[in-house]
Amino acid sequence: AAIDRAKEAEPAINSYVTLDEEGAFAQAEEIQKKIDAGELTGPLAGVPVAVKDNMCIRGQLTTCSSKILSNFKPTYTAEAVENLKNAGAVIIGKTNMDEFAMGSTTETSWYGPTKNPHNTAHVPGGSSGGSCAAVAAGECFGALGSDTGGSIRQPSSFCGVVGLKPTYGTVSRYGLIAYGSSLDQIGPVAKDVSDCAAFLEAIASHDPKDSTSIDRDDYDFTSALENNAKGLKIGIPKDYMGDGLDPEVRQAVLRAAKVLEENGAVVETFDLGLVKYAIPAYYTIASAEASSNLERFDGVKYGYRTEEYEGLHNMYKKTRSEGFGPEVKRRIMLGSFVLSSGYYDAYYLKALRTKALIKKEFDKAFEYYDIILGPAAPTTAPELGKSLNDPLKMYLGDIYTISVNLAGLPGMTVPVGKDKNGLPIGMQLIGNAFEEKTLIRAAYTYE
Ligand code: GLN
Repeated sequence: AAIDRAKEAEPAINSYVTLDEEGAFAQAEEIQKKIDAGELTGPLAGVPVAVKDNMCIRGQLTTCSSKILSNFKPTYTAEAVENLKNAGAVIIGKTNMDEFAMGSTTETSWYGPTKNPHNTAHVPGGSSGGSCAAVAAGECFGALGSDTGGSIRQPSSFCGVVGLKPTYGTVSRYGLIAYGSSLDQIGPVAKDVSDCAAFLEAIASHDPKDSTSIDRDDYDFTSALENNAKGLKIGIPKDYMGDGLDPEVRQAVLRAAKVLEENGAVVETFDLGLVKYAIPAYYTIASAEASSNLERFDGVKYGYRTEEYEGLHNMYKKTRSEGFGPEVKRRIMLGSFVLSSGYYDAYYLKALRTKALIKKEFDKAFEYYDIILGPAAPTTAPELGKSLNDPLKMYLGDIYTISVNLAGLPGMTVPVGKDKNGLPIGMQLIGNAFEEKTLIRAAYTYE
């Protein structure tokens, strides 16, 4: 049914870079045997899922939606995907994304934009726009996304699905093609909160192959599916509700907060003033790490190589000039600049200090609050073609999500209504480190 639905929806939506019909049926047959033998009993056994195209699957095209990786077939599988497979999920395809996860609209993909299933004249958000649109359009029952600065939570908001970015270190980054390594986290995108909890439970694990992976005491996320918010202290940052926030989004988010209050939570407003520095700090750090991470795509080791060249340096130059799109080039230039001698202290080091201060401010807030509640994005999904010509404006749209990555915290988006044009609105719940269960409980209570 998922494959049929995907075939029907794809011409209009373009969620997938690769839809693997044959592979899906082969996996399903194997899984069915294990289910019949009683070897697979979990909630994901036999469930069709999709994976963002920046996660490696052995022998399968893994492109990052970039021309430079348009022929890349990895020799190993990402740990999160391996975990999904072990839980019995059937991986039916790889989803479209902004090139190398850089963007907020899925329009920077080499494979063309993904469209929002609620209105195909609008973007699905990004960079995990393919994963979120595929779930929203019923082209799979859940998907993996990655979130460096909001790339799970913002497109989940625009597509009306549930998305969760776990605490840094919770899901292994082994086999995730790196963008900003100190910020990247894989997480689930699902139709509702209980599915989301089940997917997180399947993919989270301690993995010695990722040196930043954490061995957590408790991976039992579905046990948090409790229908009450009793005793939860929820803080709404005034700084998240001010200028630049669409009034319809504000209203829907405040209405959702009220529902949690009616179910036993205490809701207050407070100051989280330093988040206004999150955007410059994030774009400095993420671009710096990206410029270093993307050095490996040189036409020698991976993927695309230019056809005609004179000598090695000319080959590098032509390969990278032809292989990367404009947004990726912008980040590489910005990142190389802030890391270069003479500018390192002025920009990169300063951004790291800002990151530390933001983390401290969150720590202080979580001494008192269990959850920080706000919008996931300042607006609903913009129209296609309206964002890319003004990158700075696009970066500003990341205002509510980005600080969460800088602080390494978990964040979750839950749909809370629609605007007058029928486009979804998402609420973001932010928790203290390792408090995914608190977020899941509040989200489940709201839902
Ligand atoms: N929009 C942000 C960026 O372009 C976030 C992307 C992400 O989380 N991968 O960097």
